[in-house]
Amino acid sequence: MNAADTSAASLLETLRLARGLTQVELADAAGMSQALLSKVESGKAELSRDRREAVAALLQVPIGTFNGDTAWVPSARIFHRRQKSASKSALSRVRAELELSHVRVESILGDVAPALRLKRRPLPDDGFTTPGEIAALVRADLGLGHEPIADLTRVLEEAGVVVIRQPLESLQVDAIAGWPDGGTPVILLADHAPAERQRFTMAHELGHATMHDGDAAAEHEKQADAFASEFLVPGERLRSEWKGNALPELIEVKKRWGISLSALIRRGWDLGLMTDYDYRAMNIQLTTSGMHRREPDSREPEQPQLLRKTIAQFMAAGTSIDALATRAIMLEPEFTTTFLDVHDE
Ligand SMILES: [Zn+2]
Repeated sequence: MNAADTSAASLLETLRLARGLTQVELADAAGMSQALLSKVESGKAELSRDRREAVAALLQVPIGTFNGDTAWVPSARIFHRRQKSASKSALSRVRAELELSHVRVESILGDVAPALRLKRRPLPDDGFTTPGEIAALVRADLGLGHEPIADLTRVLEEAGVVVIRQPLESLQVDAIAGWPDGGTPVILLADHAPAERQRFTMAHELGHATMHDGDAAAEHEKQADAFASEFLVPGERLRSEWKGNALPELIEVKKRWGISLSALIRRGWDLGLMTDYDYRAMNIQLTTSGMHRREPDSREPEQPQLLRKTIAQFMAAGTSIDALATRAIMLEPEFTTTFLDVHDE
């Protein structure tokens, strides 16, 4: 036996997990034993060419996927934003999806990947520096001033971060983000949430990537939320714009800043612009009116452009979509849905 190709083996495992299949399920479908599949995935055995192609067909990836080398991206700092009910298997599935996305992004962007313009700013353990202060620094790093961020996806893309919107709703995950050393960061963003929530999630992920080393403690979640709040709406600006607690005015403010009404109300309360009594009354009003579930005056979801434009350039230069999809370890329909279709929910 040749030296087993560990990169292909882990690619197989990652694709299987991303499809939500267990070893038993894939082995059964491919007519082999789970023991053999397990060995193949850990690089201790190889499949015949026919078997490799059968497995590729079952996983709905290009037929030659396991015949050649696939560049594997080094491990990354990974952060999830998920609901508490998300299952373990859902998490390994989105994680696999993220790893594949790194491969796909590298295969698409290659040498034309934009330079990363984000500075890491670890949150010091001094008990003084707040996540909000870090958020203000990142705003300054990115030249955002104190104005509303019209298109956060675009800001991230211009800073060298790839955003991919995906249907992750059934997995109860809002986002997963990977920040490899020296590679292109990728945020996979669930496309089912209202635009305002997607923006908050992206800002939350940016907070983790800026301040933290890896997925972690409950306090990290709060810190990333605090970062996101200040990043999206600088507190001083909100203070100067606050005109009381009347709903129509609050809705105008939240529209301008692109956050959810409930996030705005929470922010107003945190900043002492609203009494405890008003805050509770407001939340009751949101619940009884259904606005806590259906965002009032929701804006259009943001559309990532970076990959779409790059793919268009390759196609204009004569590369076929099939060739691009194959490089990204995808069949053409999935490639088109993921990178070219506009998701407008
Ligand atoms: Zn988080």
